[in-house]
Amino acid sequence: MATLADSTPIAAHVPVDYELRGCPISRSQLLELLGALLAGRRPRLPAYSVCFECKLRGTTCVLVADRTPCLGPVTQAGCGAICPAYGRGCYGCFGPTAGADTGTLTRVLRAGGLTGADIARLYRTFNVAAPAFTAAAVAAESEAGGAADREGDGDDSPQ
Ligand code: SF4
Ligand code: SF4
Repeated sequence: MATLADSTPIAAHVPVDYELRGCPISRSQLLELLGALLAGRRPRLPAYSVCFECKLRGTTCVLVADRTPCLGPVTQAGCGAICPAYGRGCYGCFGPTAGADTGTLTRVLRAGGLTGADIARLYRTFNVAAPAFTAAAVAAESEAGGAADREGDGDDSPQ
């Protein structure tokens, strides 16, 4: 019997023409995609990160101001940076941007006091199968201190 532990992306089983990000997806992005397909053109969807949307709406950065863990710098835009607008960090539900610089973000999160286990859990909150987030989680755990973090971490609840 298949379980969550061995679930895989649908693209691993059938050809996928296009992926819309988000949980849930953005209605405006869906309309843009359908319109583009009907018109035979490329959809105009953002290729930048959630951080740009924070700046566009004038949201104070929760990572800088409060040290709230946030995956916005490595997450695809499209939601309008809704979580930071409510004082929460981004959990990455739109998935990684192309060329996501997770190494730099991991260093920033560590400097903010997160352990390797904390950081790995953050990358695995959504889109755990996205290669960039999977690699970032494994790297965060394997860096110096990661093993010690795991040994002393008996709480698996989301942070
Ligand atoms: S709150 Fe998060 S998404 Fe917004 S600017 Fe700061 S790091 Fe980027
Ligand atoms: S988790 Fe990140 S990408 Fe998802 S809605 Fe919140 S801010 Fe947007």
